[in-house]
Amino acid sequence: MKGFDIIVVGAGMVGAAQALALARQGWRVALVDARAPQLEWPEEGYDIRVSALTRASQNLFEELGAWQAMCAERVSPYREMVVWDAGGTGRVHFDSADVGEPDMGHIVENRVIVKGLHAQVARQPDITPFWPARPVRLQREDEGAALTLDDGTELTGRLIIGTDGGRSWVRQAAGIPVTGWDYDQTAVVTVVRPREHHRETAWQRFLPTGPLAFLPLTEGYCSIVWSTSPEQAERLLAMEEERFARELEAAFEATLGPIENVGPRAAFPLRFFETRRYADTRLALAGDAAHTIHPLAGQGVNLGLADVRSLARLLGEARRRRRDPGGETLLRRYERERRSENRPMLLAMDGFKELFSNDQPLLAWLRNTGLTLTDRLGPVKNLIVRRALGG
Ligand SMILES: Cc1cc2nc3c(=O)[nH]c(=O)nc-3n(C[C@H](O)[C@H](O)[C@H](O)COP(=O)(O)OP(=O)(O)OC[C@H]3O[C@@H](n4cnc5c(N)ncnc54)[C@H](O)[C@@H]3O)c2cc1C
Repeated sequence: MKGFDIIVVGAGMVGAAQALALARQGWRVALVDARAPQLEWPEEGYDIRVSALTRASQNLFEELGAWQAMCAERVSPYREMVVWDAGGTGRVHFDSADVGEPDMGHIVENRVIVKGLHAQVARQPDITPFWPARPVRLQREDEGAALTLDDGTELTGRLIIGTDGGRSWVRQAAGIPVTGWDYDQTAVVTVVRPREHHRETAWQRFLPTGPLAFLPLTEGYCSIVWSTSPEQAERLLAMEEERFARELEAAFEATLGPIENVGPRAAFPLRFFETRRYADTRLALAGDAAHTIHPLAGQGVNLGLADVRSLARLLGEARRRRRDPGGETLLRRYERERRSENRPMLLAMDGFKELFSNDQPLLAWLRNTGLTLTDRLGPVKNLIVRRALGG
């Protein structure tokens, strides 16, 4: 049996950041993951999964000492964003220069984020890693909690944090239901190089089948997130490279010219949900374990990192005041804070998805008018850019 203050289950982007933030406050943390983190990969090529990080997420990584390692590996700033509708003339163009900022955020490969965080985890004496290991039993009582791993190790602590992704074992073991639905959309992701440079701009075209995004990477490459019907996704995955490149060009109105290089493709079914409870006896959920969102606004991991900041702030306060890290009042505050911040963003993204994936004439008019108006109204645009920066 091994005793800790806090047990974090899931050492992905959110879990590794959470463990680091808490260990830096002096808590003794156990960090569990079913897999060892990926720290090496071939020099050629990009990770098929990337995240558009807001300035707020970048600031957190800077505080944790991980941002520099990510920059040394590879990050791509995006300075502008262009969004337009396939069914009309509505178009909006955001520019970070309009609000006096050097960029709107960075596109970073998920494996680069994980590696940057784990370089710090490895240096942190207050984090004890357990991987590869899966939890098999969760026990919670008023005084503390225990987690049994599949190799028989028993971990005890005063708080368990579930950061083990959308299918969270922790959430299910605690019997916490979710509210949500399948989008009936699948995201096809890949990396391509169009003939023209992306101009450090994030591009998104809304098609009736779903949004298609070109996110800028280094050396003119773009990460593609093409949300579409499950049937079309299947076809896009199965077709040979040349044909896929032509279909992609057509869907993107060849905005950056012909597609010259296509990497491996993968598909992710898209789901929307929010947990019914962010906290329970001696337990908290953060990141995708608590909510998943449509990737159209690239907010998923940013919301998860906001959960991390909130929990770290409350636990930092508890540490200073020598309070119980799994106390009811603290967990109730976490619940209130995250629900009131996450709910509007989750619902707004769901509304956007409905508004744009629809060819009803009234909705088409509404979104085109909305895009055109937004583009003309400087203050509204600047507000959106500031919001995108995560301020
Ligand atoms: C196509 C697509 C594009 C996206 N683009 C963006 C974007 O641009 N910007 C953005 O912010 N977000 C984006 N997202 C969302 C983002 O990828 C997720 O929000 C993010 O990965 C969540 O991180 P996490 O650490 O909570 O969970 P995960 O990344 O899922 O990590 C969970 C960790 O828990 C471990 N684990 C799982 N089960 C167990 C278990 N039983 N026991 C022990 N360990 C376990 C896993 O091994 C993993 O390490 C996108 C998502 C998709 C599908």
